[in-house]
Formats: sequence, structure tokens, C-alpha cells
Amino acid sequence: MERLDHFMARANAAYYATRDPFADFTTSPEISQVFGEVLGLWAAVTWGLLGSPASVVLAEAGPGRGTLMADALRAIAQAAPGFRTALTVHLVETSPRLRAVQAAAIGEAVWHDTLDTLPEVPTILLANEFLDALPIRQFVRRGACWAERFAGPDGFLEQAVADGPDIVAEDGQIVERCEAAESLVADLARRFSRAGGAALFLDYGPEVSGPGESLQAIAGGKPADPLVAPGTADLTAHVDFGRLAAVARAEGAFVAGPVAQGLFLARLGLFQRTNRLARSQAPDKAMALMDGARRLGEPDRMGRLFKVLAVGSPMARDVPGFG
Ligand code: SAH
Repeated sequence: MERLDHFMARANAAYYATRDPFADFTTSPEISQVFGEVLGLWAAVTWGLLGSPASVVLAEAGPGRGTLMADALRAIAQAAPGFRTALTVHLVETSPRLRAVQAAAIGEAVWHDTLDTLPEVPTILLANEFLDALPIRQFVRRGACWAERFAGPDGFLEQAVADGPDIVAEDGQIVERCEAAESLVADLARRFSRAGGAALFLDYGPEVSGPGESLQAIAGGKPADPLVAPGTADLTAHVDFGRLAAVARAEGAFVAGPVAQGLFLARLGLFQRTNRLARSQAPDKAMALMDGARRLGEPDRMGRLFKVLAVGSPMARDVPGFG
């Protein structure tokens, strides 16, 4: 048997190294170019809040096909040429396969395996559907005690633990913990307090922390058993934004959100920008743009399940999109 986070890290590393994840699922930047464009404009405003430093890192964690960054850079070049000149592009990506795809989209990028090697300068980091791929542990309440769930050859196995989660749960309830996400956010918060900066995380998950199982596997576009055939399915879990916000605050960072993605994108002008762009397009392209914006923003589609959280140094506390 194997600890669930170790299993999930191994399974996802194999999955992203060998498969085309976009055959199994689609993501916001692939739905509409305006998604990356408005995030580029968010980054430009944030750069201004940071005092328009002459040298700044624009980073992305888990950039997929590079679509978000390419769209962001195009919007930045047009709307904020000073920021475009000041920035260097850094991508945090472990999959060699996806790095090659990203290189074709963004020739100027510098790649990293982890955030640790990013230069110590003011940094603006974007991360869409990145945290949900990081490995989780699961604990299950058994009477007055906690057990941890392990990946076994024929399904989940349980082992009693003395130091389970510090929350109230009912018998049989599952609580998930993503230590990788927590230490990543804590590291970023410390980096921002040294060198300045802000990060924007977009992902799916609840607004308020609590018990509940969310680990899921998608293979061939369909739900699969997460423990069977590791490396053939994309494993994800809901992001616990409430916990990550608390971690960032404990490190002295400012935190904005989480807010629903639909509200955030609407405040950044998703619909106005889409309408303006659609006017200059052929009818079929215009329809696709409008439908894409609705898919990202409407509450019963991606607008409510997806949340947005910003973390950064105090100077950037008024980042746009949070009301
Ligand atoms: N942000 C993209 C892709 C989301 S898929 C989009 O919105 O389309 C998840 C991405 O994170 C992939 O690029 C995957 O290779 C990368 N990834 C997953 N785990 C990672 C890890 N531990 N370190 C760095 N990158 C990782």
C-alpha cells in the first residue's frame, strides 16, 4: 500500500508526461482567448500596484498548452507596453511533453521544475487548474479517531493515525489535505514579502473549508477509478481555498477572495471585451466567442464552481476583480 499523496504524485507525473490531457478535459484558456487576455490585464494592473518595477517576472504554474500566457502577452503588449518591456516569462512545468508544446507557443519563456528557482525579483504568478492536480491525503473519521486512507492494490486501505485533521467531522466523513499546495502558497507568501509580488489562483473548489471527498479521475473524457491503472487518468481534487487563504495570511501576505470565477471575470470585463471582439468577427466566430464567455462566467456552468484567490505583498492589496 502507498500513501495517497505519493500515489497521486506518481500517477499524475506519468499522466502528464505521456498523455495529451486536453484530449480528456478542456480548460478556460482553451474555451476563450478572452480568458487569458483579461488575466494579462489583471497582471498589468498588479504590476502598477507594485510600483511598476523595471524588472518583473511574469510566471505561470502548470501552463498546459501555453494558451493562457500567449493570450495574456498579446493583451499586455497592446494595453501596457511598459509592463511588456519590463517582464520576463517564466513557466513552471514538470512535463517534458507539455514543455515542448509551450515552447512552440511562447518562444521567450524560461522553464522551471518548481517555483523555488524563480529569480528573486517582483513576481506576478498566474495558475489556472494547477493546484487541483497537486497530490492530496485523505483522512476518514472512525468513531472518536482518525484513519488515513492509502492506495492499495484492490482499493482504499485504512490505517489509524494519531495526528489526524484538527476539525470536527462525523463518523465516516472524509477530510482531504493538500500539503503540496499549502507549502507552495506559504513559500510564495514569503517570497512576496521579500521581493514583492502577487499570485492569482483559479480552480474549482468550495468557498468554505469542510469535510467531503473530491478526488476524481478522468480517463478518455470519462470518470474512472482513481486507483486503477495509474498514469492513464488525470487525478484532481477540489482546492481548499479557505485553508490556503489562512496559510497565506499566517505568512503576512494579503489575501483577496476566494470569489466565484464568474463574478471575477465579469468585473475584469470579460463580457464587454468579448462583445467588442465579436463585432469584428464572422458570425460563426462571433457566436463561439459569446458562447465561450457564457461558459466561463455563468453560475450553472464554470462561473460558480470555479473560484479565484489572490495572494501577495501588501502593496498589491487592491488587485482588481475582488470588489
Ligand atoms: N493551466 C493550464 C493547464 C492545466 S492542466 C490550462 O488551464 O489549460 C495542469 C498543468 O499543470 C499541466 O501543464 C501539468 O503538466 C502541470 N503540472 C501538474 N502537476 C505539476 C507539478 N507538480 N509541477 C509543475 N507542473 C505540474
